[in-house]
Parts: sequence; C-alpha cells; structure tokens
Amino acid sequence: MANQGFVFNPRSSVFIGGYTYAMRKTDLTTWLCFFLFGLTAQGQVVKTQATVLKPARVFDGEALHEGWAVRVRGDRIDAAGPAASIEAGGAKVVDLPNTTLMPGLVEGHSHVLLHAYSETLWVDQVAHESLGLRTARAVNHLRAQLMSGFTTIRDLGTEGAGYADVELKQAIEQGIIPGPRMLTTTRAIGATGSYAPKGFSLEWRVPQGVEEADGVDSLLRVVRDQIGHGADWIKIYGDYRWGPHPGSHPTFSLEEIKLVVETAKGAGVPVAIHTTTPEGMRRAILGGAETIEHGDGGTPEIFKMMAEHHVALCPTLTVSNHAGAYPPGNKAEQPETPAIARKRASFKAALDAGVTILSGSDVGVFNHGESGRELELLVAYGMPVTDALKAATSVAGRVLHMEIGQVRPGMLADLIAVEGDPTKDISAIRTVKFVMKGGVIAKQ
Ligand SMILES: [Zn+2]
Repeated sequence: MANQGFVFNPRSSVFIGGYTYAMRKTDLTTWLCFFLFGLTAQGQVVKTQATVLKPARVFDGEALHEGWAVRVRGDRIDAAGPAASIEAGGAKVVDLPNTTLMPGLVEGHSHVLLHAYSETLWVDQVAHESLGLRTARAVNHLRAQLMSGFTTIRDLGTEGAGYADVELKQAIEQGIIPGPRMLTTTRAIGATGSYAPKGFSLEWRVPQGVEEADGVDSLLRVVRDQIGHGADWIKIYGDYRWGPHPGSHPTFSLEEIKLVVETAKGAGVPVAIHTTTPEGMRRAILGGAETIEHGDGGTPEIFKMMAEHHVALCPTLTVSNHAGAYPPGNKAEQPETPAIARKRASFKAALDAGVTILSGSDVGVFNHGESGRELELLVAYGMPVTDALKAATSVAGRVLHMEIGQVRPGMLADLIAVEGDPTKDISAIRTVKFVMKGGVIAKQ
C-alpha cells in the first residue's frame, strides 16, 4: 500500500541474511529505521523484528504437519517446525486458530487484462475496451488474486493491452497497488494470420490480441523486443483455430519454435507454448518449451514425450470446463459435454504418463479471485489432493524457477492460512483467512 505521509527509500538500507544494515542520513530516516527495523540510536545493527505465525497445522508444500509454527524475518521464512521449537522471544505473534498455514498459491496461467467472458466477449474486450479502462479493471483483478490467496501469478499475455502487465507489475513492486508477484509475458506472439480478432472486412488490418511474427528476422526481433519491454516469460501460440478446416491447426514450424527458445534462452527467459493439438504439442516439446498451455488433445504418446523431455503441463481445466455445460460450483453432477469428456481423458493420460502439472486456470476468462476452482477440478479430474496442492505450491515454484511454494527457512515468506485442512478437503483453499507476501501481511 502507498504510504500516506513519509516515504521510506529502501536504498538507504541493505538487507543481508535477515539483518538490516542502515546508514544514518537524516533524523527522519533514523527515526524510520528505528521504527521499522529496530536500529539503535547509535546505528548498531540489530536483527529485524520477527513474526511468529501459530496456525493449527502447516502444509509445507510437500506434507502436512500438525502443531507446527513458522517464524518470518524480513521477506523470508526464518524457521518452521513444532511450535515448541520456534523461538518467539521479541517476535510479533499472530495466532491463526483452526487454520492450515501453507505456501501462497500460484496461478500458473492468468490474464489480468481480461475479465469474465460471461460479462463481455473476448472480441469486444479487445476491440472496444481501451487501455485505461482495461488497466483499471486489472487493478481490481490483482487485488482479488492476492486476497484469494494467490501470491504469485504467471500472466500469459495482455490480449491487445500492450505492455500493461509490466506496468502493473511495477505498480505492485512500488507499493502503489496491492497484488501478487507477477511473471509477465507482455503481448505474446502469434503466427501471422492465425490469431484473432477475425471476421472483419478483409481489406481492414485489425489490431490483434497478440504480436504477429514469423521466420528468422521477425521472430528474433519480436522475442528480443518483448524481453526488452520486461517479459519474464515468452508466450507463443503453437496452434490455433485458423485455416479452412474446423478446430486448431499448428502454426509455427519446429525450426521457428527452436529459434524462439534459443533467442529467449540468451536472456534466461523460458518459453510457454499454447497448444491443443498433438502436432502442436510435439513441436513444442522438441522445440524446447518449458510449459505447454492447455494440451487438450494430448495423447498417451505425446504425454510420454512430455515427461521424458521434462515439459510441464498447465492444464487450464477450469476454462475447458467453463466453456462447456457446467455452471460454476456445480461440476460433478452435470452431464459431460464431449469436449469435457475428452479433456478429462487427456488429463488422466497426462497423470498416467507422469507429466509434471503446474496449476493454472486461464483466469480472466472467468472471474479473478476464483482461481481456486482449478485446484478443485484437478482433484475432481483424478489428481490426489496433496499432488493438486503441490501443483500450486512446491511444484509451481520449481517450474517457475522461483524461491516460493515451500514453507522452509530461506524461502520467500509468501504464506496463507486457510480454514480447515486442504489435504482432506481441497475446497478449504477457498476460505483464506490470512495472506502474507514477502513477509508483509496483506490480509488478516
Ligand atoms: Zn490463456
């Protein structure tokens, strides 16, 4: 949150291993340092004040531990273990009775610049809602994500809203608006002629929901340009609904995908590929994608190849489900559409093949703040409940190359407390009582 009066400049302090070393500059900074970090009037270095969180139990990202407590210092987890072993002297104690403390959840596939298609169709959002309006909505979406326990999101394309994801990320990092940690992709990349909006007068050149690029020169330039604009990941569309035949068809060649991956790799940027067809998935796997988005048409052979190449699947079950006959919150009782039945079968094939699953829902297609639906569907579609929790915590942290998703010393203190025990009933993740991001309490 923005400070009302004083502005503390973080550059006047250095954080090393949970200690704060601060320099005296003015009386104001000294006072602020004393207030915030317990620096003595003589400028001696003291440990930052710790916070001890006392829930009923802790899910540490791998397993459940009854009677554990967690100590946080600065932006990191300092200690976790049986409550009696966690020293609380001098610490602020937060009691969280009847709750399970766990890593903040990860939304592996979001679009904060989109709102529910049930409110406004995608094409009307892209064509008729301008940047300022879309950004204003996104501010609410980001708050909703954080308050519903999602402390990290990987946002996979602004869908025509330029680089607003990077700008929103800056606003969060500068404390102007509340929101989760964001991994950004900026505009995403599609092959010319394949994406949308479509169906306008053919002589019009209609702005697209992605940046178009093809071949060596243009792909090199666009990948580098998006990284230059702040993309943490590159997102490309490996297939899409285009051409004279119904359904999705591959877009980029294997050589083009390899070029994208190699170019991004130079900057340490991983590549996520939207693909729903077996051939699109095959090219994504062999081309070096780190994650495949959706993967609806995956076969047992394709998923075996994914597992062998260590490519993670972000299954977006919620959006597959949402597009079909099921009303929200009433999943199991409804008859399945053929599309949902196919998705259920392909997801089972992915689990059987041992593919790494990153929980990601494609939220934005439906309401922000309801990303928990993806975890419920992971379980409803046959994933053991602890594995579903891992897909949004410890496994997600590894797939995204971040120090998140586990409750253990040294990890970032992104923690939530939910009512009940989510390892017994996954719906417990919908009752978020407490949210901390980077050691700062966002909801209590
Ligand atoms: Zn998406």
